[in-house]
Amino acid sequence: PDRLTTPERRSEDADAALRPKSLDEFIGQQGARENLRIFVNAAKSRGEALDHVLFFGPPGLGKTTLAGILAKEMGVGFRATSGPVIAKSGDLAALLTNLEDGDVLFIDEIHRLNPAVEEVLYPAMEDRALDIMIGEGPSARSVRIDLPQFTLVGATTRQGLLTTPLRDRFGIPVRLNFYTVEELTEVVRRAARLLDAPVAEDGATEIARRSRGTPRIAGRLLRRVRDFAHAAGAESVDAKTADAALRRLEIDELGLDAMDRRYLMMIADLYGGGPVGVETLAAGLSEPRDTIEDVIEPYLIQLGLIARTARGRCLNGKGWTHLGLNPPQGAQD
Ligand code: ADP
Repeated sequence: PDRLTTPERRSEDADAALRPKSLDEFIGQQGARENLRIFVNAAKSRGEALDHVLFFGPPGLGKTTLAGILAKEMGVGFRATSGPVIAKSGDLAALLTNLEDGDVLFIDEIHRLNPAVEEVLYPAMEDRALDIMIGEGPSARSVRIDLPQFTLVGATTRQGLLTTPLRDRFGIPVRLNFYTVEELTEVVRRAARLLDAPVAEDGATEIARRSRGTPRIAGRLLRRVRDFAHAAGAESVDAKTADAALRRLEIDELGLDAMDRRYLMMIADLYGGGPVGVETLAAGLSEPRDTIEDVIEPYLIQLGLIARTARGRCLNGKGWTHLGLNPPQGAQD
């Protein structure tokens, strides 16, 4: 889907240049950052590899960035891959046997590993060993190969997507949350500096307020707003310029785009405010269920516009108001 506010990575990752390179440079996620620093220092002083780390949270919040930072802070090598890319257990075995002592192996979308590959990961994580079958039929036997002391860093959108045995093998689970407007303002200021884009203080705040709590979106909006400012001959991006540009991009004052509004409108219009099942919404919006659950809903829930209930999604009073409609009697706020 070609949404400007989609927090998912696009093929050409323009924001890679904006990636912070150390824990100190990384903005926000203070609790997670402090804990990671402690674990990194402890592992380093013992001369051991860092325990396996699982990052979970919506796309664009910095999971890949933090994985890279962990490798840098540990002073070790970094290899990155993703769940769907590792097709066969042999592919994973090849990756693992090529690691050096201490290396970080990053697996994005780790919940999408195929089950046979996941099986290989268990002993690799737990005993740092690989069990390989040699031969076929009655003469087949299993051989154990020792692996280097590596650190697996996994990333997933929701912790609950992982199987229990996999989840249990991560010593350090880290949840990433949406960023505050203040933190995102700092992200925008930093990106503006790196991109050499003149942005006034109120311009940075305006972009931050409309970035869905997500640094990746903040970087992307900054680039688009800068283009509009440039076309308008503005010398720097102030709140007014940013607002005009974001309106043209159909991003409203809460940072919601046309897809978010279609989602809200559907619950309001077709289902009287809900409850309505996620499958029904996915079908109506022609979006995969995962996109609805991982990308669209978390921020709407964070804003309090909708609620996830056992019987389905419901529009809250705030959601009705945001659409410019009167909430019906009995709507939750
Ligand atoms: P994820 O892996 O969670 O989808 P990424 O780590 O790829 O997210 O982050 C997306 C982009 O957002 C990065 O390339 C970087 O430019 C920016 N970013 C993420 N977190 C931060 C942060 N804490 N401070 C500054 N920029 C950040």
